[in-house]
Amino acid sequence: MSDLLNIYIQALDSANSGIIITDNTQRDNPIIYCNKAFEKITGYSHDQIIGHNCRFLQAQDRSQDERFLIKSCIEQGKDCRVEIRNYKKNGKLFWNELYISPVKNEKGEITNFIGVQNDITDRKKSEHELREEKSSIEKKILERTKELVESEAFLSSIIQTVRESLLVLDTNYIVLSANNHFLNSFKVSKEETVGKLLFELGNHQWNIETLKELLTKILPTNNPVIDYEVEHVFPHIGKKVMLLNAYRIEFEGQYKDRILIAIEDITEKKETDRRKDDFLSIASHELKTPLTTIKGLIQILQRMVPPDSSDKFENTLDKVAMYVDRLNDLISDLLDTSKIQSGNIELHKEEFDIDSAIAETIDNLSLAAPNHTITLNGKTGVAIMGDELQISQVLNNLISNAIKYSPGSDKVDVYISKVGNFVKVSVRDYGMGISAQDKSKIFERFFRVRDIQKKFPGLGIGLYISHEIIANHNGTLWVESEIGEGSTFSFTLPILNK
Ligand code: ADP
Repeated sequence: MSDLLNIYIQALDSANSGIIITDNTQRDNPIIYCNKAFEKITGYSHDQIIGHNCRFLQAQDRSQDERFLIKSCIEQGKDCRVEIRNYKKNGKLFWNELYISPVKNEKGEITNFIGVQNDITDRKKSEHELREEKSSIEKKILERTKELVESEAFLSSIIQTVRESLLVLDTNYIVLSANNHFLNSFKVSKEETVGKLLFELGNHQWNIETLKELLTKILPTNNPVIDYEVEHVFPHIGKKVMLLNAYRIEFEGQYKDRILIAIEDITEKKETDRRKDDFLSIASHELKTPLTTIKGLIQILQRMVPPDSSDKFENTLDKVAMYVDRLNDLISDLLDTSKIQSGNIELHKEEFDIDSAIAETIDNLSLAAPNHTITLNGKTGVAIMGDELQISQVLNNLISNAIKYSPGSDKVDVYISKVGNFVKVSVRDYGMGISAQDKSKIFERFFRVRDIQKKFPGLGIGLYISHEIIANHNGTLWVESEIGEGSTFSFTLPILNK
């Protein structure tokens, strides 16, 4: 072998690609040369390779399209490049990137083929993984899009179904969407509404000064508007009383900085409430008149008791008088409630000594509730400007409740003290207590804690009246309580500066 040929062979042996040469002049085109890399890639040794046709690399996997491509290129004497599944000596599959080029003699006849091969299994694997990943991402995107479309349809069906008017505005108060309830209630079409400035909708019917003021405060301060009552006379539909709730939507992304307005039409509810109040006021008034007469007649009877009548007779009469008083109190409470509602409650403000007013109320109550010890703690020595009867009524309510709602205990503590410019009065009981969620409601009209009706009779207005009376005296009434631990109701009243 010439030196030059040796150098060529060395060069081929040090290549990373597997290289073979076949002899096309011999039958079945046998391999006549292979380099070291080819041995390494296939796992076969030089002796096991030379003399064989290349097809041994395909083992039993003979139906690949690439094989037919190679065959046709060889027949036509053309170059070709294929990626084909081949098998190593140990049977393991490898992807072979195969270049085949024919060598021709001076007559143009193909004498040899040169095959160059690279093991591209790893590349194929990552390509495959990449394809898999791509298709799985595509699948996920499809699923997510479907979910989004579905949830959007779901949300929009809710928005369209709710019996409340909903509007979405952008930061310039342009309406981006309005639900059906809004369109129906305010007798407007979608075209007249969407894309328009809220305040210019339908002949400027939403150009309501208070609403404008509220909305312009939402975006800069991020404060929602909650249950804001707006009364407005609309051109076609007349007067409406509405409860407005407005929120700034804070999501990042495409829905950032939007305002959602929910408008509840409470016109009818207001009207029903007004009728209910009127009814209460008339009914209690009408009940009170004959009751006053009955009370007077009982007093006459009490004075006319014959000297020889039995104790039972007198006791019965006293009981009738007591129940009439109780009925009278209940009706007075109802009347007070309707007076508060209509703003007609009268205050007879006079200077009075708060310490003795409280002591007197406690004394009276102690007589009526002999099973409970009501203890007065503290003294202020100051005077109050107010309606003494009403303040006594508040204390009466608080102590009566303290007794009524603590069936398992026999004491009530009353504390009175000076706090800054105020007198503070607290009524502490050791009874059932009030849950956190009920605490916020007990000062509402007719609210009674659930399940209480059967055990403790009442109308649920004592605390409402008390709260209003204290508010009318520029004080506050509040409660601190834990379920099962008892409650402390406290109120403050401003001290009279002499
Ligand atoms: P009423 O006693 O007629 O129901 P109120 O307005 O005085 O009406 O009280 C409202 C509700 O608050 C009561 O029904 C009761 O559930 C609760 N409540 C009031 N005072 C107490 C108290 N001291 N302890 C526990 N619950 C109370």
